[in-house]
Amino acid sequence: MALSGLEIYKLLPKTNCKACGFPTCLAFAMKLAAKQVELDACPYVSQDAKEALSAASAPPIRLVKLGAGDREFQVGNETVMFRHEKTFFNKPGLALRVKDTEAAESLAAKVEAVNAYSVERVGFHMTFNAIAIENASGDPSKFGATVQAIRAKTNLPFVLISNNVDALKAAVAKEGGNKPLLYAATTSNWETMAAVAKAANASLAVRSQDGLDELADLTKKLGDAGVAELVLDPGSRDMARSLAQLTQLRRLALKKNFRPLGFPIITFPGEAADTEEAEIVAAAQDIAKYAGIVVVDHFDPAVAYPLLTLRLNIFTDPQKPISVDPGIYEFNNPKPDSPLLTTTNFSLTYFSVAGELDSSGLPAWLLVCDAEGLSVLTSWAAGKFDAETIAKAVKSTGIADKINHKKLIIPGHVAVLSGELEDELPGWEIQVGPREAVDIPAYLKLRK
Ligand code: SF4
Repeated sequence: MALSGLEIYKLLPKTNCKACGFPTCLAFAMKLAAKQVELDACPYVSQDAKEALSAASAPPIRLVKLGAGDREFQVGNETVMFRHEKTFFNKPGLALRVKDTEAAESLAAKVEAVNAYSVERVGFHMTFNAIAIENASGDPSKFGATVQAIRAKTNLPFVLISNNVDALKAAVAKEGGNKPLLYAATTSNWETMAAVAKAANASLAVRSQDGLDELADLTKKLGDAGVAELVLDPGSRDMARSLAQLTQLRRLALKKNFRPLGFPIITFPGEAADTEEAEIVAAAQDIAKYAGIVVVDHFDPAVAYPLLTLRLNIFTDPQKPISVDPGIYEFNNPKPDSPLLTTTNFSLTYFSVAGELDSSGLPAWLLVCDAEGLSVLTSWAAGKFDAETIAKAVKSTGIADKINHKKLIIPGHVAVLSGELEDELPGWEIQVGPREAVDIPAYLKLRK
């Protein structure tokens, strides 16, 4: 049962020391009750109070880990309905489903494509997270052999799909101990599924065929049987009903603290889609609200990229601008006489400028100033990218020792800073570059 803010307050030290970042213990207690902070933020909670508060401080949606090593990923642990309330924490895993009835060459090609797919955007590497393997043949030995063949090609985590407990046992034996997700326990097989999951140290998906009450009943039984890491499949497939059910599950977990449904959710957007395009639209909905694992039936880089970008955008922290480290960046082996440009450390700004410099083939130095992760105009308007900031970066980075000239190119949007900057940097010539990154190569070619 969730504790109220006042009940939590009674268990805190009540010294108002502010070490947790809040002005009073009561303010901290209120945030803890709202699941917006972690109990660990207070270093002075007694052991007795910690135990008493464990229910209140435990995440309302359980963290579930799949896989091992560098391909491990985790889902759950979310604390808010909407990203702007705080942030979403764990990106939903994207999985491609293959079947053990497919030809070996086709299977190998699909798995290799997913395994190798990796793209970078604003400094983040984006990949698919898992392979879902379905026992469509119904044959345990064929399922085991398929799992073994796929494991030889990838260390991605697996979602193993079968109604046949013997097939799942055969698959687990060939999976390689990488902590798979078994799909799925139902009212008719949950006891044997629980035994297989426990023996394999695997997570277990729970599928309802009769609504959320049945789902909650099943998770309670599985919890009592000792299977803690569960993933929910509420059963709906069409977009409208799925959206309603996933939202209801999130609300029950966060607002009502209803533990039997406080688990990540798995979805299969292709199962109600007539076309690949419809599957992608449904997958995008699931990423936004509120899937933990999204299993798609088609993989195409042209589709994977927008889905991964959508996921990245939704799961970045809205309170922390995505930034790169301030400092000097080199492009195309710059020499002492190569031009020196400057910009801010907002990731999108940096990567736009860096991309143009890199592809231009022209040697150049780029001085990235600490503008608290804001773009050029925003940081200038906020006083974070002014003449003083740029001059400080020039002096602290020692760029003057690497070049044999004193010319600095500033973004065209902040041309107004040129006079003030020449005052801050006596002896330097401030040149005004283009407003848009895309115009930098042409500017550098024409520049004297
Ligand atoms: Fe109170 Fe702990 Fe925060 Fe200090 S750190 S104000 S004791 S809740």
